[in-house]
Amino acid sequence: MKRLAALLVLCSCAYTYAQTQVATGTRSYVEFLASDKLEGREAGSQGERLAADYLASQLTRIGARPLPGRTDMFMPFDFTAGSRDGGSSIRIGGEDPARARTFSARTEIQALSFSDDAEVSGPVVFAGYGLVVPESQNFGYDSYATLDVKDKIVLVLRYFPEDADQQTRAVLARYSDLRYKAMAARQRGAKALLVVTGPRSPNAGELVPMSFDTAIAGSGIPAASITGSIADALFPADMPLREVQQALDSGNPHVTGVALQNVTASLKTIVTRQRQTARNVLAYLPATTSIDSVSQPWVVVGAHYDHLGHGDKGNSLAAGTDAGGIHHGADDNASGTAAVLSIAETLARQPRRRHVLLAFWSAEEIGLIGSNAFTTAPPVPLGSVAAYLNYDMVGRMQDNRLIVQATGTSPVWGRVLERANVAAGFDLVAQPDPYQPTDVATFNQAGIASLAFFTGSHADYHKPSDLPERINFEDLDRIAAMGAAVVRAISDAEQPPQFTKVDQPVSRGSVAGLRVTTGTIPDYATEVKGLLLGGVTGGGPAEQAGLMKGDVIVEIAGQSIANIYDYTYALELLRVNQPVTVVYLRNGERRDTSLTPAARR
Ligand SMILES: [Zn+2]
Ligand SMILES: [Zn+2]
Repeated sequence: MKRLAALLVLCSCAYTYAQTQVATGTRSYVEFLASDKLEGREAGSQGERLAADYLASQLTRIGARPLPGRTDMFMPFDFTAGSRDGGSSIRIGGEDPARARTFSARTEIQALSFSDDAEVSGPVVFAGYGLVVPESQNFGYDSYATLDVKDKIVLVLRYFPEDADQQTRAVLARYSDLRYKAMAARQRGAKALLVVTGPRSPNAGELVPMSFDTAIAGSGIPAASITGSIADALFPADMPLREVQQALDSGNPHVTGVALQNVTASLKTIVTRQRQTARNVLAYLPATTSIDSVSQPWVVVGAHYDHLGHGDKGNSLAAGTDAGGIHHGADDNASGTAAVLSIAETLARQPRRRHVLLAFWSAEEIGLIGSNAFTTAPPVPLGSVAAYLNYDMVGRMQDNRLIVQATGTSPVWGRVLERANVAAGFDLVAQPDPYQPTDVATFNQAGIASLAFFTGSHADYHKPSDLPERINFEDLDRIAAMGAAVVRAISDAEQPPQFTKVDQPVSRGSVAGLRVTTGTIPDYATEVKGLLLGGVTGGGPAEQAGLMKGDVIVEIAGQSIANIYDYTYALELLRVNQPVTVVYLRNGERRDTSLTPAARR
């Protein structure tokens, strides 16, 4: 993360909004898209359809056209909107049929969202935590080392050993994702995977929630979670699960599993995946001169227009009475959508050597599905795309600071941005990393030079309170004006930007594997040593510990924190309900507090 030329920062006061030529539309776009009528624009919903219709009508008004060979601006695609259990059950018993019991209530057994639909029977083998860590990681760990699980039903504990030393836990945490455990069991010939949350783990005995999972099909193995009491019934009285887990947790980390004597089970898993259709909205402003001699004659400018609806799919951060309300998504991402429309309005009045494709993605919030549908079945050849610009959350500018991500994807970006910023005068924060949780990642993956514009996260992120009245429209208009200048520069350049591959940071932890939450909202925009808090979740552990926006965490549980990656790594080592010391800076003064992590569901 490097700020571009300090000189440009000095320029910022000399140029004002009045000097830039912008359309004045961002406010009306945001106010419509974030209105109650659109109900949070959840992919596949009526609100999303209304938003798409609105975008098409605005694009038509601006003078954009359907893509070549198309008669309208819609690109429909199917996606999995969620999964629920369709009637899974388990029958357990030993040699004695009189002792067999069947469990089928949703409070007792539930398929994992990536499960195959199947009916299987066989002996049950307990495989500890079901962890397999490749030898390449300093040490090997294989729950299956001495077990034969072929054609058997494997029972494993969720998460990873509780009492291992911190370094070991850090490695194990990365391999404890349930999909990974399912894959390990399947590769060893297991018929099915059962998961129980051990009595010594967070969320002890509870079922694994059927997470919102966008997988189209199963993972190749039936998999279900069962309650602690069903698991208890599988273990003999002289070897209860609690003691077995204790041995696994505190003993040699290489302890493996055990076959459960005379225990057989019949498992039936049924996952109902709800398929829905969403629509990308695509249009273009044709080049105003012949493209015959222009190499890579397309520039794509995009923003996702979908949001969380009522926030009931697991990615809402609303708590208490806010939960279930309309998630208006004014900043995320009516702001970016408005910016792209405004850019189009400006460009429509100017000459250009390349076609400008205007893209509005749906289903971004559930896994970048719309942009992936585009690059998977591209309506224009990807090889003809010179560059991609992304706008996601650009409505909350503070202190004139504009974050530009993915700048590592081309050596030309520094110069292009500097030039475009002469008139705009932003304090630019360049971040080379293109592996961002927004559609820019899709285009980087496709080998296209990309940029993503962002004004930072905030306390209303993914909450109903992300409202139009909190948008900074004056700066949003300036961002759109600068965007038009960047597109114009790419469009008019002789040579398209050269693509540079950026290595993915290896130290980034898998968020999916995190079991604890500290209730902190990082500020990704500002460069400080440590973790700067953009806010804290209401009622969360950080708030209870007295932390607040502006504090900089420099140490947690004895681990020094230099950046967000260190912090993510450190989180993996924390345990639910075990207080740790947090050292932080407030107004430059070093302080400490005790924070008690909570379980993340
Ligand atoms: Zn977004
Ligand atoms: Zn979002």
